[in-house]
Amino acid sequence: MIEFKDVTKVYLKDIIALKNLNLKIADGEFVFLIGPSGAGKSTLIKLLLKEEAPTKGQIVLDDVDISHVGSRRIPNIRRKFGVVFQDFRLLEDRDVFSNVAYAMEIHGIGKKEIRKRVIECLTLVNLLDKRKYFPNQLSGGEQQRVSIARALVNNPSILIADEPTGNLDSNTAWEIMHLLEGINETGTTIIMATHAKEIVNQMKKRVLQLERGHLLRDEENGEYDESN
Ligand code: ADP
Repeated sequence: MIEFKDVTKVYLKDIIALKNLNLKIADGEFVFLIGPSGAGKSTLIKLLLKEEAPTKGQIVLDDVDISHVGSRRIPNIRRKFGVVFQDFRLLEDRDVFSNVAYAMEIHGIGKKEIRKRVIECLTLVNLLDKRKYFPNQLSGGEQQRVSIARALVNNPSILIADEPTGNLDSNTAWEIMHLLEGINETGTTIIMATHAKEIVNQMKKRVLQLERGHLLRDEENGEYDESN
């Protein structure tokens, strides 16, 4: 469970990125985070990942107030999250297998266990046959699938996807969405920031709409525009 309790984030003394935000996201939910550029979507994500601290309020993750925990405990919090970005952020000098394995290597996990889990994740995203390819030998959709495998390899309970379909054509975007939907059905919470109107409208998931740092709308089975 994620809970924002009266969270305000102010940058540089007077730029209010989030204002008195209250919301709860239960385990296993699929949530779209929408709103125009500058609305506060990235800030919300950064607060969750402990890349920024709130100016006021509490952020509670699985009954722990993470707003002001010390740096020693940040790795434990980050381990609960997998993150997928619009621009994939793969390591160009490592092949597919190694890109996914790297996310486990940095936690000092043994080779055998890494191999088993990487194969599982590459199978899930249907890329095991391309495990020896390098990122520049893959299509955009394939690169995004590698980044999803990498995000899942440490078994996070929450997957954050920041515009994951922003660089993809419509068919490929839907491929990614079906993959994310399948991952959500296995119990992983998904929080996806997006401007993809058609995807939000067709998926009929919970919609959180931010505007100028305020939560303008929180709707189950929502659409992109309130008027629809
Ligand atoms: P979104 O992701 O919806 O585009 P952001 O969370 O990036 O919105 O931005 C919300 C507001 O906070 C904007 O006014 C933006 O300019 C400001 N902002 C974001 N990050 C910083 C920062 N590091 N320093 C100063 N202002 C920032």
